[in-house]
This record gives sequence, structure tokens and C-alpha cells, in this order.
Amino acid sequence: MDQVKYLLDEKELPEAWYNIIPDLPAPLPPYLHPATYQPTPLPPPLFPMALVHQEQSQERFIAIPDEVRHVYRIWRPTPLVRARNLERALDTPAHIYYKNESVSPAGSHKPNTAVAQAYYNKQEGVKRLSTETGAGQWGSALAFACSLFGLECKVYMVKVSYQQKPYRRSLMHVWGATVTPSPSEETESGRRILAEDPNSPGSLGIAISEAAEVAFSDDNTRYSLGSVLNHVLLHQTVVGEEALKQFALADDYPDVVIGCVGGGSNFAGLAFPFVRERQRKNLKTRFLAVEPTACPSLTKGPYAYDLGDAVGMAPLAKMYTLGHTFIPEGIHAGGLRYHGMAPQISALHKAGIIDAIALPQTTCFAAALQFARTEGIVPAPETSHAIRAAIDEALRCKEEGVARTILFNFSGHGHFDMAAYDAYLAGQLVDYDYPADKVAEALKSLPKVE
Ligand SMILES: *Cc1c(COP(=O)(O)O)cnc(C)c1O
Repeated sequence: MDQVKYLLDEKELPEAWYNIIPDLPAPLPPYLHPATYQPTPLPPPLFPMALVHQEQSQERFIAIPDEVRHVYRIWRPTPLVRARNLERALDTPAHIYYKNESVSPAGSHKPNTAVAQAYYNKQEGVKRLSTETGAGQWGSALAFACSLFGLECKVYMVKVSYQQKPYRRSLMHVWGATVTPSPSEETESGRRILAEDPNSPGSLGIAISEAAEVAFSDDNTRYSLGSVLNHVLLHQTVVGEEALKQFALADDYPDVVIGCVGGGSNFAGLAFPFVRERQRKNLKTRFLAVEPTACPSLTKGPYAYDLGDAVGMAPLAKMYTLGHTFIPEGIHAGGLRYHGMAPQISALHKAGIIDAIALPQTTCFAAALQFARTEGIVPAPETSHAIRAAIDEALRCKEEGVARTILFNFSGHGHFDMAAYDAYLAGQLVDYDYPADKVAEALKSLPKVE
């Protein structure tokens, strides 16, 4: 075993998040109100003012509050690891590095924003946060953050996942959250769905409606989202800022930066500080976002205004989208099943700064196994998409006989996804083709804005 780790001292934990808004190639198209289609900020009844401001801030660096840095220290700075053992197994001249975000208490990058969001809500006197979760990664990250700041946490968990993924549910309970299978009898939205179909398995869209309804109807409750929005991507940039310092220690620098994308937050968090450096120093760094073929918004969707949720509670955003009524196949990378994409990632892809590819799940699981058997850590199914792309890039380096430096975000571990690994090892996983017909149907529901 010949792994090389680049570790930062606690003192080197970044003091500011990087806000890419002033450095975007063009101004971001504004959010539009879901009823009037007029430009709107994020609605304050749903979000605390600090986050409404961060969402549209023009300040390039935003100080990380001491209380947030204090909590970050539980697991940050995270290691940057040179995957020497994987390099050797691939017999590649490439240098492969990963930023290991799986070392957080919840096992993924998501606490980077959950902690910040809980803090700002607490500051403004909010008592309770409501949110939705699919497989439970985001719900458990927010439950963890709320427990540390003494906030109540209410999670609507998609009913099929509530039944199929008991251990993330347990994790949320351990951190004191209330977890309700969605659709539920607790909200108007839930009751309406159940009246139509008492056996509804639920969906992310329905769970968002329930969580948002609770926040709209209770003054002490705000809503919290784990990806997509500008302030969420902002909080994740602590990842890339650390990585920049670690590459200085390694005396190396990435030629290509890779991340899996669901809503885009882990990829943005790693990549945006490197996008800034590329512009500043006129570098040629490549950026590669990896999505599943079952839900390929960046590679197949149009760049258009669409609803952020299934029912139109949230504002419209300009983004690459498959249509808000699109429901992807039940791939195991549940965190990559969002119909749209972060507006900031969408703008950078439109401008040609970020490339994107889509990969089917079985080849990603094969890469995850190769990673587990060389580097020792079992990846989340989402993360396996970034690993597949990094391995393929390393194999291209071997063919071309060039030693490029590859960096990817190890967004989370797969310890609660063992059923997916069992299915893969038993040969039961299938790949899904690009669902052209379903997407065409869903795109008919795009709001007619322009
Ligand atoms: C949620 C999740 C993702 C996808 O979300 P992004 O906002 O695109 O980062 C990726 N990896 C893991 C481990 C996740 O939990």
C-alpha cells in the first residue's frame, strides 16, 4: 500500500467561502416568481435573510463564521489523497488525487452546507428546519447540524426510501430529527396525493411540497435545501479552497477536475476555486461533471427556465433540465436523480468552461469495486460516477503516454448502500438507456417564459 496523504493543520481551515457570482462569464439569469414570472429573490418566508442575501451576493469572498468553522473542525480539513495504489493497478503515468469528503459524521460533503444553514437559521431565531430527503444523505446531514445548534429538524422522506433504507432513517433519529414518510397525512399536499392514491410510493417532488408547506405555514420554521442553490454551492467551496493549499504541499496541480453531479454542489465546491485560478492565471484546467445516463440534464436537457420542484412552490430557475415532471428510473445513485442542475453550473457549462458526460451505473459500480479494492474505501453509488470518469481519464493517459494530474471529489462513502453492492455482486443491476420519450414528454411541461 503506497497511499500519500496531504493533510492540513486545523489552523489552515479556510476563513472564507468563494462566491463565483462576480467571476461568472455573464450575469446569472434571475429567479422568476412561479405565479407571475417576474424576477424575484429566494422567498424569505422559506429561507433566513442571511441566505437570501448570500444567494445574490456580489462579494467574492464571504467570511465563514467562527461558530461554523468550530463545527467544521470535527472533521475538517479533510485529506487530499494521492491514489498511488489505484495508479499502480491501472499501470498509468497519470497522477490521481481525491479529496475525501466521506470523513464527515454523516459520511458525505453535505454537512459543509448543513452546518452553515443551521447556524444562520439559529442566528435569526428560527426554531425548526424542515426538509425533504430521498435516500437520506441530505436528511441525515441536516439532522446532524440541527442537533449541534439546538434546532428541531423535520424530514419528509420519500416513502419507498423510508421503507427500503432503514439505516439512514435510524441515523436521523439518533441525531434527534423527526422523520415522516411522504406523502403523509400531516400536510395539505400529502393528503391530496393520498386521496388520489393511498398507496403512493412518494417522490422527491411531493416531499419538497410537504416540507415547503410546513415552512410557509409556521413562523418558527424555515425550509432548507441540500444542493442546487447558489448559497449551497458557496458553502461547499471550503472543499476546493483546502484542495488548492494541499496541491501546493504536493507540489503538483490538477489538469482535470472531476465530480459527480446531482444538483451540482459537491462538484462546484471542489471545482469553483480552480475555475477562479484558471481565469486568474490563464491556465488550461479542464472541468468534467459526471451524471447518470438515467438522468442526464447537462448532456441532454435544454438550457431553459423550469420549476425547481414538482409543484411550483419554489421559484423558476434557468438551468439545464429534463422537465420538472420527469421521474428518473430507480438507479442506486439516488442523489443524482434531480431533474435540473444548479444555475451556476448550468451557466458555466453554457459558456463552455465545464464539460459534462453521462455514464451508466454498472460500469460505475465496477469502478467503485476497483477503488475499494485498491484504496480501501467503499464509495457511495453517486461517487462511483466520478471514480469511473477518473479511471477512464487515467487509462487515456496510459494510451497517450502522458502524465496528466487528475483530481476528483470523493463525495461520500457507501456504508449505507450495501444493498446496492449486493445487487451488483449478484449480477442483478441493469443499465437504463437514455429515456428519450419520457424526457420529450416532460419537456412539454416547461413553463413558457421567453
Ligand atoms: C447528495 C450526494 C451527491 C449529489 O449531490 P450534489 O449536490 O450534486 O453534490 C453526490 N454524492 C453524494 C455522496 C451525495 O450524498
